[in-house]
Amino acid sequence: MVMNTHSQFTSVYNACTKPRYILICEHASNFIPEYYNSLGVGSEITNSHVAYDPGALEVAKLMAKSLCAPLITQNVSRLVYDCNRPPNAKSAMPSKSEIYDIIGNQNLSESQRAERAIKFYAPFCNLISSIIDTEINQQNYPIIITIHSFTPIYYGKKRNLDIGILHDDDSRFADEILKLTDLQQNLQIKRNAPYGPEDGVTHSLKLHAQSRGLANVMLEINNSIIANATTQKSIANLLSDYMRQAADNLTIEKRD
Ligand SMILES: [Zn+2]
Repeated sequence: MVMNTHSQFTSVYNACTKPRYILICEHASNFIPEYYNSLGVGSEITNSHVAYDPGALEVAKLMAKSLCAPLITQNVSRLVYDCNRPPNAKSAMPSKSEIYDIIGNQNLSESQRAERAIKFYAPFCNLISSIIDTEINQQNYPIIITIHSFTPIYYGKKRNLDIGILHDDDSRFADEILKLTDLQQNLQIKRNAPYGPEDGVTHSLKLHAQSRGLANVMLEINNSIIANATTQKSIANLLSDYMRQAADNLTIEKRD
């Protein structure tokens, strides 16, 4: 259930007191406001991983419930604005994604780029900041978890990975998770794969967690293992258990 909506493009699910975790889903939706005319691309693109992270929102909602954590989502396609990228990154409004040209993002002017950042990125970031800072002001230091999915086939090549555990400079929470997942036989779980900090994917972690000394991780799930309600539930349960155990094993909750 959506508890409150701060802008029409962001939602908070599961507001709760003194949460141990705060969940973020930047690529939750493939919604493109009508005035962008689908950015000139067909539904085979807007309905695919190019426009959003299939399955990520469903898993994030289940995890939020299981962990009793607030979940903040961006409800506009990453093709309009990728909320895991700063406004000065070209990939924030990609003119090309994988092999697809995004017609409506070609030759954007500075003012068009700024307008999208103000409309979609700023309210999302402000909302996350206000939720985190409310906790910190009460001496609660939540772990920041961002939830994503990736396509099993990229540039025509199959990825041999089920779940990526991603981090930037502050790896303490990811390290604890990986100690647990190293024992997992059935799934391929790896550190900083299929992307890593060098690909610019840790923007939200750095902006919202590292800057405040909060433990953090980015979860990247192969979208083929969260394609229906049953598998979404089992992966959400598995990951929630890992989050709880890793949090119990964390020795420092907040870094100065
Ligand atoms: Zn994503």
